[in-house]
Amino acid sequence: MKIVFATKNEGKVREVIKMLNMDKIELITMAQAGIDVDVVEDGTTFEENAMKKAVEIMKFSGMPAIADDSGLEIDYLDKQPGVHSARFLGHDTSYDIKNKKILEMLEGVPDEKRTARFVSAVCLALPDGRTITTRGTIEGAIGHEIKGTNGFGYDPIFFIPEINKYSAELTTDEKNAISHRGKAIAQMREKILEII
Ligand code: IMP
Repeated sequence: MKIVFATKNEGKVREVIKMLNMDKIELITMAQAGIDVDVVEDGTTFEENAMKKAVEIMKFSGMPAIADDSGLEIDYLDKQPGVHSARFLGHDTSYDIKNKKILEMLEGVPDEKRTARFVSAVCLALPDGRTITTRGTIEGAIGHEIKGTNGFGYDPIFFIPEINKYSAELTTDEKNAISHRGKAIAQMREKILEII
């Protein structure tokens, strides 16, 4: 079964191929499927955005398509930046600046009010019109400093109390084993096994 992965990010495709770990699935990039479309992520939930991307790419390619949408919810900021995580302070603003801004916005906020989570919604859209959506989360807190050099995005300010580490201190394999995306993809793997 060939599935188009609705992203232009080759790194993400490699990561998801590794996480899916399925012989019967060949995950191909949009470039490999010969399509180049930009889907506007204007949904109000991660699920809505993932579904919109997957359905649109499925229609363009005529093949099953998988898409994900993810972000960081900070409880003290009414779950912002949420679906706007990539756009927070502007798409092209560095994460060093975004992360410093968040630490500033939470200055003086006590630990118990710094709770946050990464959320990932993954959607598979099939040419017969069926869609399957899964969601994974990892609970944590906004730390008091920028720490670690692995990962990307908000990883250097995301503290995971259970392991007493910032997300950016984890190796890729350590992160994938517990991450929002890892969990959403693992659930998707089970759902795909049921239908192939
Ligand atoms: P998208 O899912 O590609 O639309 O972007 C999600 C955005 O959420 C990223 O650009 C990051 O800002 C943030 N994000 C999602 N997952 C992670 C993660 O695992 N670590 C750090 N930031 C993340």
